[in-house]
Amino acid sequence: MKVALHWKILIGLSLGVIWAFISSSLGWSQFTINWIDPFGTIFINLLKLIAVPLVFFSIISGVTGLGDPSSLGRMGLRTLIFYFFTTLSAVSLGLILVNSFGPGRLVDEDTRIDNRITYELWAQEKQVEVKDQKNFLQNPAYEDRVARIQSLGGETIDPEVEKSMKIAQATKDAGPMQKVVDIIPSNIFEALANNGQMLQVIFFALFFGIALLFIPGDKGQPVIDLVNAIMEVLLKMVDFIMQAAPFFVFALLAGTISKMAGDDVSKMLDIFAGLSWYSLTVFVGLAFMVAIFYPLLLKLVVRKIPFTGFFKAMSPAQTLAFSTSSSAATLPVTMECVEDNLGVDKKITSFVLPIGATVNMDGTSLYQAVAVVFLAQFHLIDLDLAQQLTIVLTATLASIGSAAVPSAGLVMLIIVLESVGLNPAWIGIILPVDRILDMCRTVVNVTGDATVSSIIAARENLLNYRQSHDTDDTFNPDVNP
Ligand code: ASP
Repeated sequence: MKVALHWKILIGLSLGVIWAFISSSLGWSQFTINWIDPFGTIFINLLKLIAVPLVFFSIISGVTGLGDPSSLGRMGLRTLIFYFFTTLSAVSLGLILVNSFGPGRLVDEDTRIDNRITYELWAQEKQVEVKDQKNFLQNPAYEDRVARIQSLGGETIDPEVEKSMKIAQATKDAGPMQKVVDIIPSNIFEALANNGQMLQVIFFALFFGIALLFIPGDKGQPVIDLVNAIMEVLLKMVDFIMQAAPFFVFALLAGTISKMAGDDVSKMLDIFAGLSWYSLTVFVGLAFMVAIFYPLLLKLVVRKIPFTGFFKAMSPAQTLAFSTSSSAATLPVTMECVEDNLGVDKKITSFVLPIGATVNMDGTSLYQAVAVVFLAQFHLIDLDLAQQLTIVLTATLASIGSAAVPSAGLVMLIIVLESVGLNPAWIGIILPVDRILDMCRTVVNVTGDATVSSIIAARENLLNYRQSHDTDDTFNPDVNP
């Protein structure tokens, strides 16, 4: 019996989880980390290896395929508007959920009062304005508590949190225009050599493609043919890699969970129990985006793609996003799924998806909104409307600024916390469960990009969805597109 690739990947994923639990309870975690986990890293490297040249050549090919720069401008504007709309919807959903569930309010009162006092002491020391005045420090009823907390000394910051705080500070110090300046590379080879500089690669490729359109036919055509041929080769490389994806995904999951759990699974489960309401709120929001928001948007705007068809088409990319926690590493697979399975023309995917992987992170923005309000509730702080609106703005910008790699959203969360006068070191509180939430939010990020590509394609009449298409052929290296 032939088993479809996405099922094989799901089986690999489940076996990875089972293996991690078994190896952890038998005390074999180190074995898993030493001998199985490296295959996960090899997988991510293989995908990233393809991602940069694929973005580069696919954008040039897409722009030349479109044939005129004005339609590129129109599509570009539409793309940005839709990306902005989905991100804004995600942040708003996150805020609605966290304010109505109130996961931080479910923590016992005593802990929250202590947390509040710690916050007021921190705000006093850092001279941060406290909007929600409760003045526990001046309240005689809390005198003993304040003295006890003060006697414990200042907070000790986890080295990992400290590292993230330095990165976030550097981003903030760079000035408002720096992000724009950073898009223009001074050396294309340097940009290509650095996986973090995707926007620079996109800029150069767009510029190159547009310039190529102005070169007369017989002179420009050989370059266009070469670019298209290289694209085919890169996609074939993805097909080969994907044949081993079920095994690689097994290794990734086994390694990731073993690193979290060590030789004591119960420790990991305890951490989850402590942060379960918070994790659940993020999870419900993310699940809503994937299962309701995007399919609904597709139904309203695109119409052609049925609910199940969309998931069948996207499942290889979604499972990979979950396993790798990186939209950038998943990009080559997302591109093939959207092109071959959803039938979005290459002219659209070639630039809508790379831009989306870099700037459109709906899952990340939703998670940041939930995390900030949860941390405020956990410290007995009520955020007012102006602060909640600030969160909408900063979480949107922070998600745009997050790199498409694991944990990037957590680092940028620091900026959102600071924007409403909260202590950035609190990311340490949610750090223990961040990896699993990162896996889930990356699925949303990738699904959001695919949804917007389909919408843009439908609007441009460049969507050719065929329900009869056999998704199993997509990554079959023997089948030519
Ligand atoms: N891991 C996410 C991504 O690559 C970004 C994040 O939220 O940390 O899309």
